[in-house]
Amino acid sequence: MDCRSAAFALTQIATLLELHDEDRFSVRAMQTAARVVASHGETDLGQAMARDLAAEDVIAPAAIEVLRDLATSNGSALLERLQEETPEGLLEMLRVPGLGPSRIRSIHDGLHIDSLLDLELAARDGRLAELPKFGAKTAEKILKGIADLRATGAYVLWQHGRAEAERIADAIRANPDVLRLEIAGSIRRRMEIVRDVDVVCAVRGSPSVVAASFAQLRGVKEVLGGGGRTLSLRLEDGVRVDVHCVRPEQFALALWRATGSSAHVKQLTERAAGMGLVLAGDELRDRDGALVSIPDEPALYARLGLAYVVPEQREAMGEVEAAARGPFPTLITEADLVGALHCHSQYSDGGATISDMANAARARGLRYLGVSDHSQSNTYAGGLARDAILRQHDEIDALNAQYVAQGIAFRVLKGIEADILPCGRVDYDAAFLDRFDFVIGSVHSRYGMNERQMTDRVLKALDDPHLTILGHPTGRLLLTREPYAIDIAAIIEKAGAVGVAMELNADPHRLDIDWRACRIAQERGALVSIGPDAHSPQGFEHLELGIASARKGWLTPANVLNTRSADEVLAFARARRDGAATTAPHLRVMQG
Ligand SMILES: [Zn+2]
Ligand SMILES: [Zn+2]
Repeated sequence: MDCRSAAFALTQIATLLELHDEDRFSVRAMQTAARVVASHGETDLGQAMARDLAAEDVIAPAAIEVLRDLATSNGSALLERLQEETPEGLLEMLRVPGLGPSRIRSIHDGLHIDSLLDLELAARDGRLAELPKFGAKTAEKILKGIADLRATGAYVLWQHGRAEAERIADAIRANPDVLRLEIAGSIRRRMEIVRDVDVVCAVRGSPSVVAASFAQLRGVKEVLGGGGRTLSLRLEDGVRVDVHCVRPEQFALALWRATGSSAHVKQLTERAAGMGLVLAGDELRDRDGALVSIPDEPALYARLGLAYVVPEQREAMGEVEAAARGPFPTLITEADLVGALHCHSQYSDGGATISDMANAARARGLRYLGVSDHSQSNTYAGGLARDAILRQHDEIDALNAQYVAQGIAFRVLKGIEADILPCGRVDYDAAFLDRFDFVIGSVHSRYGMNERQMTDRVLKALDDPHLTILGHPTGRLLLTREPYAIDIAAIIEKAGAVGVAMELNADPHRLDIDWRACRIAQERGALVSIGPDAHSPQGFEHLELGIASARKGWLTPANVLNTRSADEVLAFARARRDGAATTAPHLRVMQG
């Protein structure tokens, strides 16, 4: 690592320390160290340390420790810990120009806001201005900062993009000439991050006249392009919107085209050409130039000799070839889920009791909930010592007995989100792990390992017969933290071979494994567990996003662990443990 990168890490640490309200002295110590280290430019950090950097007396011992860590491991345990301790939404807010850590802390403490979307709402509805030392001017500046962030073409999480899109869609629908409207583009394809909004409208009268009228819409900052049936706008909050206006009979094709992806559209256009058809603009014509009526999207696919491809699958990743062979197996929907296997309670860093979490799961129609609080090594997230686990298990037993007594068909399973330690060991010893119904193993530390080290670490954990599910397998936080270096295909391959499920963590900031990797899991026969990673009753809403990603990855109910009953999940977990225990005697018989 060079000194400039090390300085950047120190700056991040200073920012996060400030966000966490650490004392001024510690913050300043990191900032000072960052400045000194930055002055060494692209010199290798290890060399600079050996030469004179370690002896600079302006660098505080705590910063020296970070530098040693960076020089030897390419990562910083302190930085990782701080990032883990910080809600993802706050890391996101740090990207807003002009919004610093102390302000974010006031916002978080005063209004309990921890996402960009909520921040924007609070800035609009006046709550932000009422915070001490804020005022209307500051709120306005923050709104502008969020707008600037978007205007630079920045991506936002899918759910933020959809919220924007719905706001605009409502404004457009208010026009009486708009007969029908759909949100298209990457939002409709359920991409995990999105950059702009596409809206398709069927209109009464002239499409270009109606399109032009939207330039006057409230909240429009500038018109980027137009004149025809499509108007490109930049809204005051920075969002770019393309509004496509068409006649009602063109709606289906316009929606299909605006949904994309452009590569998928190209493939279908070529297929049409191969059949002597012309697919251009919002029309399909046969070889005589006669218009072919396309009342809806399925009609287009049928006319091209293809099974219908849902928007989530339109990524030019083999779906057209597959659709030519025949219909797809029915993709998973949320109704297929019967349980959830990843949530936290007040025992670790969750906000609700086990009973409240169970009620929220029941309200969503689930029949079991696997509680998986953090394990002992995860001290910063309130990881549980053994006695706390025993108490939790007593509570779960009592709760389950209550359900039985009341005739409620619901069950709480005893799980744990155990840290996969840097050496690849799963937290707790084998005898203690036996107490759990299922075990999620997750990496929560030392993200800086290289690909070989990290892959070996996780492969080793997969050898532990107690492991049931590999949690958020790449550690990514969308838009804020890259996945750690890991050979995910090798991990999935082994998970499939040994019978460990890969998690699709449905937290909107994670969506990990990525939908592209779901395809690999399906091919290699690894089950996927769609986990809400809920830290509060609202957290079960994540499941909707998890399902969208699973569909994008072509998953069917049979590919997903938590479409199975609680008994089947328990059997899945037990199969590995028993398998490992009986392998030796079984082999002896064979050899004998
Ligand atoms: Zn985790
Ligand atoms: Zn978790």
